[in-house]
This record gives sequence, structure tokens and C-alpha cells, in this order.
Amino acid sequence: MTREDRTERESGFVLSCRDYGESDRIVTFFTGGRGKLKGIAKGARRSTRRFSNSMELFCLSSFLFSRGRSGALYLIENCDVEEHFPGIRGNVEKTLTASYFIELVDLFTPEEKPSPALFEHLKLFLGLLEKGTLTESIMRLFELRILNLSGYGPALERCARCGKPLCDEEAPFFFAEEGGVRCQLCRPASGSGGIKLSPGTVRTLIAGKNLPPGKVPRLVFSPRILQESDEILSRVLRHVLGREPRSLGVLRDVLDMGGEKKGPS
Ligand SMILES: [Zn+2]
Repeated sequence: MTREDRTERESGFVLSCRDYGESDRIVTFFTGGRGKLKGIAKGARRSTRRFSNSMELFCLSSFLFSRGRSGALYLIENCDVEEHFPGIRGNVEKTLTASYFIELVDLFTPEEKPSPALFEHLKLFLGLLEKGTLTESIMRLFELRILNLSGYGPALERCARCGKPLCDEEAPFFFAEEGGVRCQLCRPASGSGGIKLSPGTVRTLIAGKNLPPGKVPRLVFSPRILQESDEILSRVLRHVLGREPRSLGVLRDVLDMGGEKKGPS
């Protein structure tokens, strides 16, 4: 059997979906076993039997697919919903947050490179949004952990300049372009652009990076830690990605409306 005629089945999250031609759809989906894949679903806009609502953004679906003859796109034969996340879809703030998570996963994953840990990360956080309250802590932890899984986690344990381990009381300065902190002795003269972090933020972010998935929901950031974490994580994301994620601006606007920093559960 050649690669061309082998049919595979994988669970995957829909990262994007767009109409193509008169009746087809082109879908990018992220699987645990095969990484991010792009496929065409022929007749998807007409056949509810084969595709139903399984291709909506961030839906977890079971994809049956094979390598198309022309090479670039997989041929998606059918697709069934495994988890549609009704609790997220019924809430605007949660829907925008899930869309932001999906955009980050899309930006951090190359095609055809398996990343089971990143798949489990997305599954965990969509599950938290589905069943729990949307909090800023969840958003910051998602960013922190996806950066860490992708090799860009902020280095907070020791000074990026001299390598000295930071003592617990020291308030170091964070530099996004160096991906880490500098101790008091190594920080440049004033006006240098580093962000001063409180020891509590350093401790919380180190804990958040390394926490087993089951304990993630229990880590809650204080307002000060949230504010400092937001500043350094958004700078690292902008530095690594070269721009701010598109969905983040909309999400910030909506979450700031009415002075609410937090969506309803
Ligand atoms: Zn130093």
C-alpha cells in the first residue's frame, strides 16, 4: 500500500476553515499524532451527513482523511464531532478567548510536526473554559505554557547576563529580547526598557511553567502578578511572533467593556 491510498483517522481541533469553490471547504486541523494538517473537504457545504457542524472553529472532531493525489492538501472524507464546546459557544468572551488560543496554536505549530504535549495543552484549556469561569489567570497560564512548550518560556531562574541564580527577595528586570531576567547588578542604566518584576511574579510564573496539568486550575494570580505577567508575556509573544496576535485586540476590547476584567461563568 502506498502513502497515496492510505486512509487515516485522527482527532483534531479545527484551527481554520474557509469556503472553497462552490461546495468545498479547506480546513486546517491540529492533531496530537500528526501535528497540524491542511485538507480539503469536497462537497462539505452540501453534505451535512458527512460533515455536519464538525468544521467549526475550535471544534474537536474525528477526521477521516487520505493524502490527495496532487500532494499539498489532504482529502478529508468525513468528519464527526467529538466535542463541540457548547459552554464556550454560548458566551462571547469565552468564544473570543478560545479563538485567541486557537490562533496562538496555529502560529506556534509548523505543519506535519507532531506535538502531543501542545495538543493536550489546548485540550486542557478549552476544557477549563467549557466547564469553568473565564479568568485572566487562565489566559496568562495558556500563554506562559504554550511559550514554554515551544521553547520560548521566559527564563526567570537566573540572570541572563551573569548566570547568577536569583535569590528569592530580589526584584529582577525582564528583557523580552533576551527572553529572560537580569539581576540588579547587570541591569543597564535607567531608561533601558526592562520591566521590573516583583518576587511574587517570578515565583508564580516559575510555578506556572512547571505545574502538572491537573493542578493548573488551582493557580490563581493576584492583581499585581496579573498585571506584570500580562506585560512580560505580551512582550515575549510580540517579540517571538513579530506582531501581536490578531484576535488579542478584539478580546481585550470586549473584556475591558463595562470595566469587567473577567467574563461570566
Ligand atoms: Zn547578573
